[in-house]
Amino acid sequence: MGLIVQKYGGTSVGDLVRIQEVAKRVAKTYDAGNQVVVVLSAMSGVTDHLIQMAEVLSDKPNKREMDVLLATGEQTTVALLAIALEKMGYKAQSFLGHQVRILTNNAAQSARILDVQADPIKDALADNAIVVVAGFQGVDGCGNITTLGRGGSDTSAVAVAAALGADSCEIYTDVDGVYTADPRVVSKARKLKCVTHDVMLEMSSLGAKVLQIRSVEFAAKHNVPVHVRSSFNEEEGTMIVCEDRDMERMLVAGVTFVKTDARITVTKVPDEPGVAAKVFSAVADAGISVDMIIQNTRASNMTDITFTVPKTDYKDALVIVEKTAKEIGAESVAGDANIAKVSVTGVGMKSHHGVAAKMFSTLAAKSINIMMISTSEIRISCVVEEKYAELACQILHTAFGLDAD
Ligand code: ADP
Ligand code: ASP
Ligand code: MG
Repeated sequence: MGLIVQKYGGTSVGDLVRIQEVAKRVAKTYDAGNQVVVVLSAMSGVTDHLIQMAEVLSDKPNKREMDVLLATGEQTTVALLAIALEKMGYKAQSFLGHQVRILTNNAAQSARILDVQADPIKDALADNAIVVVAGFQGVDGCGNITTLGRGGSDTSAVAVAAALGADSCEIYTDVDGVYTADPRVVSKARKLKCVTHDVMLEMSSLGAKVLQIRSVEFAAKHNVPVHVRSSFNEEEGTMIVCEDRDMERMLVAGVTFVKTDARITVTKVPDEPGVAAKVFSAVADAGISVDMIIQNTRASNMTDITFTVPKTDYKDALVIVEKTAKEIGAESVAGDANIAKVSVTGVGMKSHHGVAAKMFSTLAAKSINIMMISTSEIRISCVVEEKYAELACQILHTAFGLDAD
C-alpha cells in the first residue's frame, strides 16, 4: 500500500492497444491497494510530427505557439487513458499542466518547473480516483502553456512524485532499465541494477536519453526513489540511488554519445586580456550555450579558441562569432557540424588513474582522431567525427570490460 507515480513514455502509449495495456498495469497497481498517479508522454512520433508541421509553415516558429502546439500530444494521451480506465470500471481523472498546476518559468520549449501545486491531485486521490497527468507541460506565471524540453515527461513525473511525497516513481519505457550503453547501439550492453544520482546525471547529460537530466536533478534534490523499467514485461529495472558501494568498484559505469553539438574555431586571436570574454559574451547574449572550450597558445602572442554549441544554434553562432572575430582582430572562423561527443562515466575514476590513457589508446587503435577533450571528476569526453560515434561507443564498452558475457 502506498502512493505510486508511474510515468509511461511514447512507445509505451504508442497506440490504442498499448494504452489499454498501460490501463491494465495501472489498474493492477491500484487493485493492490495503492493510490496511483500516472504521468504520460505523447504517443511516440507525435511530438516530432507536430514540430515538422510547424517547420513547414515557418523556419522560426513563434516559441509560445510551439508550446501551445506541442502540449497537445500529451493532452491526447491523458484523455485516452482516462477513457480506457473508466471503461474498465475505474474512476479516473486527467489533468493538464495548468490544471495541476505545474508552475514553470517562462522559458518556452525548455521551461523549468518552479512549483507543483498538487491540491487538485490530492483531492482526486482522496476521492479514490486514478489520476492521469499530462507530462512535458506546465504553465508560467502569466498563464502561458510551457513545455519542459524533449524528454520532459520524466521530469514532470519526478516533480509530481516529489510534491506528493510519493513512495515510488516508476519510469516505464521501451528498454528494461538503464544500461552500460544504449542497448540499441551496443548489443552487449548490460542492464545496471542501480545507478547513483551522480553517474546518472552525467550519463543523462551526455546522451543516455532514457532519463531527462532534470528528472535526475529533481530526484537527487528531493530524494525521490526512481525505478526505470520496461512497460513491456514485469522485470525489475534499474534503481536510481544516492550511493551504492558496488558502483564504487566499477571503474566505468557507462559509455554514452551525443551528436547534438557543433564545433567552432576562431584562429589567431590576439592573446590579450578580454578577448575570450568578448567572444563568449557575444554568444551568451544571443542566448546560446557553450559546452566544451579549449584554447591553444601559438607563437607570437596568438591563440586559437575552439568551442562547441548546440547544432540547432550553430548557424546563428557562426554569424555572431564571425562578427566578433573581426572586432577583436582574429584571423578566421571555421566550423564543423559533423561531430559527436563520446564519454565514459564512473565514480571509480575518482580513485584510479589511466582511464584517459586507455580511452585515447582505444580510439587511436581504430584510427579515430580526437578533436577535443574534456573531463570531470567522474567523466571523460572526447569529440570525434560524427561517423565514428557508434563505433567509438562499442570499442570503449569492450575496452572497459563492460560487455555482457
Ligand atoms: P520514452 O519514450 O519511454 O521516454 P526514450 O526514447 O526517451 O523513451 O528513452 C528510452 C531510450 O533511451 C531507449 O530506447 C534507448 O535506446 C535509449 N538509451 C540511450 N542510452 C541508454 C542507456 N544507457 N540505457 C538505456 N537506454 C538508453
Ligand atoms: N513528448 C515529449 C517528447 O517527445 C516529452 C516526452 O516524451 O517526455 O519529447
Ligand atoms: Mg523519454
